[in-house]
Formats: sequence, C-alpha cells, structure tokens
Amino acid sequence: MHDSASGGRLEVRPDRPTARLYVCGITPYDATHLGHAATYLAFDTLARLWRDRGYAVDYVQNVTDVDDPLLERAARDGEDWTVVAERETELFREDMTALRVLPPTHFVGAVEAMEEIAAYVLRLIEAGAAYRLPAPVGEDVYFSITASTHFGQVSHLDTARMLRLSAERGGDPDRVGKKHPLDPLLWLAARPGEPAWPSPLGPGRPGWHVECTAIALNRLGMPLDVQGGGSDLVFPHHEMSAAHAEVATGGWPFARAYVHAGMVGLDGHKMSKSRGNLVFVSRLRTDDVDAGALRLALLSAHYRGDREWTGGALEAGQRRLTAWRTGCARGSGPSGTALLDAVRGALAEDLDTPAALRLVDAWCAADGDDRHAPGLVRDTVDALLGVLLA
Ligand code: ZN
Repeated sequence: MHDSASGGRLEVRPDRPTARLYVCGITPYDATHLGHAATYLAFDTLARLWRDRGYAVDYVQNVTDVDDPLLERAARDGEDWTVVAERETELFREDMTALRVLPPTHFVGAVEAMEEIAAYVLRLIEAGAAYRLPAPVGEDVYFSITASTHFGQVSHLDTARMLRLSAERGGDPDRVGKKHPLDPLLWLAARPGEPAWPSPLGPGRPGWHVECTAIALNRLGMPLDVQGGGSDLVFPHHEMSAAHAEVATGGWPFARAYVHAGMVGLDGHKMSKSRGNLVFVSRLRTDDVDAGALRLALLSAHYRGDREWTGGALEAGQRRLTAWRTGCARGSGPSGTALLDAVRGALAEDLDTPAALRLVDAWCAADGDDRHAPGLVRDTVDALLGVLLA
C-alpha cells in the first residue's frame, strides 16, 4: 500500500491473525456522496483482500455524530440535531449496504463514546500535554503539539501550510491564548444552547481528533495496521490523532500505514458540502441505478488519484456489468484460477482495481474450455470486488 507518512509503498502484512483497520467515518449532516462512497469502497477492497488472504479483519469506523457542522446544519434547517444525525447515519448505512460494503466490526458514534473520549483527554492533561483556556463558562482544553516528538511525521507539511489547512479544516489557529496556533481542541466547555455531556473536565464535548484516537485505541490498540480516510484528512486530522495517541500511550507509530483516498470532483471542483456540487448515492439508488454498475464505475479509477465524476463513468460501469454477467453466464471460459491469481495480484499492488477490472474484461472477451471458470470468476468478482453477477 502507498503510505502517506513515508511517501512510498510498504508491505502491509498484519503480524497477527486479525488485521486492524481504522477508517474515519462521516459527520452525519448530509447524505453520502460519491466522494465518501469511493473512499469506503477503497477500504472495503482492502478488507476483502485481507479476508481472502485468511486474516480476520477488525474494522472500526466512527461517526462524528456531534460536531459544529452538524449543529449548524440542524440550526439552519430548524431541526433537532439528534434527528439529523440519526437520519443521516441511517441513510449512510443504507447506502453502504446497497453498495455491498462489508460493515465495520465496530461502528461507533462520538456520543456513545463520550466517557471514553473524556478519559483520553484526562490522560493527555495528566501527561502534561494539554492546557486550559477560559471559555464563556468553564474552560476549554487544548493539546500542546510540542508534547509530541513525532509531530509532522504523518503529513510532512511545513508550518505555513499546516496553518492554512488548520484554518480551512475546523482548527482555530487565531484563537487568543493558545500556546501554539496549531494546538487542536481536546474538549469544548459547554456553550449556551449547545449539547454538552458531563465529564471530569466539566460539561462539554470533545474535539474531533481525540474522538478518533480514543475510539481506535480502545478497540484496536496500537499500532493499527492501516488508518484510512480521504486525503483531506492527512492534516490536521490524522497528524493530530497520531500525536494524541503517541502522548497517551508512549508508543509510535499510531498506524503502520496511513492510507488515503483521492477526492472526487464534479465540474472541475472537489465534491464537497460547502460547494454544493454533490452527487448522492441515495439519489442514484432512487434512480434505480444498479449498485454493481455504480461500484464498477467507482472502482474503475485508482483509489489514490483525484478524479472527475461524469455520467459517462456510470454508463461505462453499466456496460461492464452487462458484459461480465454475459461472460459468466457462458458454459466455459479461459482458466478461472489464472484469472483469480491475476486479480489477487493486481489488488495486492496498492489496490489496483482498474487493472483488476481490465483482467475480468479480458477474461469475458476470450474463449476457453474451463467449465469451472464461469463460477469461479463469478465468485472472484463477488468476493474481491463486491459485485454480484448472478
Ligand atoms: Zn478520524
């Protein structure tokens, strides 16, 4: 897999029978768009490949079901934020099921994990790595990035770029009183009119990075085999989560490999809520798009590259699905075991799904006398690529 921290490829070979995967989940204030779908399909492919190799997979995914963007959206629409969070989380799960994404072992909301997250904040305070700033009522708690000796080793960005990204992605580099402008929030003291939970830190709610650190460490321990997410999470989110974990446990690295999926664009811009140029999985589902065609459309591009979404990709996915179904409905074909080996080999090279798809195309287009091949190819496509051809 390509590892963002080392900037190169490394062998991701779990050292125990159960592989440990943590993928950052959604903030449920809007429906699943194709950018999310592409990211979760990439890690679904990894989980399938591990299972094919004989590993069990312990897969943890969080849901940031309380955060500023969610509260702002709920306030804008005059809705109860818990209603928005529950509805959008449920829709996300339906979308993932429709896409045949194998569910995580643990799907954990920030709200249900409140106590354990607060306990990690306390640990960071006790380690001398956190400090308090006065809030309108009570005190906020910040993490001191200088407490981490490895800070910067996930993203390798210079400070100027970190500052820009911090401001763009939920940080508050300009907050007065912080020891370092990049120091991230660990605990937000209760604000009037906003939800808060009791804790040894006083009533409040956690910052986003420590949420993932706590949920990951409590279920998987360190090091994770892979921490995954979209490439927009490299900084600050994954850098900060790793720094929190380092200080809380004294260990490094947080993850053996940091794997990041590219962004999906539409009309020349990254698909994002703020830009409003989203293509929703649920919308495609109501339009009766075949989930297999959508899966093939998304897997036809390499997970790591940024890409443009076009209607043409979906049409190509549908054509491919039809060709594959026809190919597997034959009485015989070229060697099935050769195809299986080749697909495994392609996926083992940094999840090269475009190559895997071309291999199946070629198998479908060629003749052969292996009578077991159509069944084996159907199973290969089902198990490794998640597409049902029967
Ligand atoms: Zn996360």
